Amino acid sequence: MTTSTNDLSAYWMPFTANRQFKAAPRLVAGAKDMTYRMADGREILDGTSGLWCVNAGHCREEITRAIAAQAARLDYATAFQMGHGAVFDLASRLAALAPGDLDHVFFVNSGSEAVDTALKIALAYHQARGDSRRVRLIGRERGYHGVNFGGMAVGGIGNNRKQFGPGLGTVDHLIHTHDLGHNAFSRGQPAWGAHLADDLLRLIALHDASTIAAVIVEPMAGSTGVLVPPMGYLERLREICDAHGILLIFDEVITGYGRLGAPFAADRFAVVPDLMTTAKGLTNAAVPMGAVFARAHVHDALMTGPENVIELFHGYTYSGHPLACAAALATLDIYARDNLFARARELEPYFEDAVHRLDDAPGVIDVRNIGLAAGIEFKTEGGVGARAYKVFLKCLELGVLTRQAGDVIAISPPLIVSREEIDRLVDTIAEAAAATA
Ligand code: PLP
Repeated sequence: MTTSTNDLSAYWMPFTANRQFKAAPRLVAGAKDMTYRMADGREILDGTSGLWCVNAGHCREEITRAIAAQAARLDYATAFQMGHGAVFDLASRLAALAPGDLDHVFFVNSGSEAVDTALKIALAYHQARGDSRRVRLIGRERGYHGVNFGGMAVGGIGNNRKQFGPGLGTVDHLIHTHDLGHNAFSRGQPAWGAHLADDLLRLIALHDASTIAAVIVEPMAGSTGVLVPPMGYLERLREICDAHGILLIFDEVITGYGRLGAPFAADRFAVVPDLMTTAKGLTNAAVPMGAVFARAHVHDALMTGPENVIELFHGYTYSGHPLACAAALATLDIYARDNLFARARELEPYFEDAVHRLDDAPGVIDVRNIGLAAGIEFKTEGGVGARAYKVFLKCLELGVLTRQAGDVIAISPPLIVSREEIDRLVDTIAEAAAATA
C-alpha cells in the first residue's frame, strides 16, 4: 500500500518545518534492513537507524511475528494492580543485561517519559529517606532529554525551551564538554576535558548539595551532534555525586542497546549511574517503549511503609504494553543471537577510519566518533544549520539518510551495517559536502 499524498495539511509534524516540508514532502513507504523505500520508489540507505532507534535494522521478521502473535493472544492487560507474563520476563531480561545492580525496571512509552519518570523517582527517593530539601535537578548545556516538562527543564537546548514559559524553577545546568579548540578531530574519547565535571562543584557551592536531588547527563550527547565524553569526565561526575549524596542519572535513550559497542554506555565507560533511562533500541522502534533502570538502593528506599499502599504514585496506561514487551523480547533475542553489540565494537575502528576521511572535506571543522556514531561538524554559513541542511538534502538526493543537528551531520547506522555501506555513507557525505561548498 502506498501513502496517499493528496492532502498534507491535517498532520502537524513534530520537530519539522511544516510549511517547508509540505512544499517538498519526503515520504517513506517501506523499509527492510538497511534500506528505506520512498513513496516515489527510490531506495535510501538508512544512515541514522531511523532516529537512533532501529538498531537491528528495519522490519525484522522475528519482531514482526512476535508482535502479531502477542496481539492475537493478549492485546492489552490492565497496567495498574494487574500484570502479565511478558512484562515480568522482559524486566528480568533487562535487569540481567544492565550493569551493576541496576536491577529494577519501570516501563514507559518513550524516551521523554523515561526521563520524567527518572527525575520523579529521584525526587521520591530523597523524600522517602526524609531528605525532602533535595529538589533541585541538574542537567547540562547541549543536553537533550526529550520534550516533557521535566526533560525540557533539564535539557540544555535553547530552542526547545524558549516557546514554553519558565518551566520548572528548580533546575540548573553544567557547562557542556564540547570544545573544538582542544578536541577537534578526536577519535573516540577526547583526552582533554575531565576537569569540566568539576563544574558540578560550582553548582554545589551555589545551591548547596543538600538541595540537589540528581544530575542527569547523556553519557554521549546524541541530539546535539555526537558529543563524546572526555576521558575521566563521567568517572569524575560519579565521584562528586557520591561525595555529596546526589543521584547520577544517565540518559541512555540513544546510547542504550549497543550504539557504543556495549549493551549500555555505562558498560562502555565503566561508570554505573543510580538511574538509567532507555527507549528507542529497546524494541528496535517497532513498538514505542522506554525503560527506566533503578539500582537496588534507589528502588529499596521506596519499598517501605504499609504493604497495601502504592509506593510510587506514577505510571502510564501503556506501561509494559504487551505488544511492546513482545517486540522488546524479540529484539533482545536478535541482539544476543547476532551478537550485535560486539559486532558494533568490532566495526568501530573501520567506521572511525572511514568517517575521518571527511576531516578535509569542504566546510568541515570537526569529525568525532565513538561506537557506531559520528558527528561531522560544518562551519556555520548563512545561519546556524543552513550548510548542514544543504548537505542533508544532497545526501538524500544521492540516496543516503543522515541526520542534521544544527551545524552537524550525525550518522548512526543500524548495527547490522556492512563495511561497503559505511563506505557508501561516508563517500556520499563527501560528495554532498563538495556539491554544497
Ligand atoms: N533522551 C535522549 C538522550 C534522547 O536522545 C531522546 C530522543 O532523541 C529522548 C530522551 C526523548 O525520546 P523520545 O523522543 O522517545 O521521547
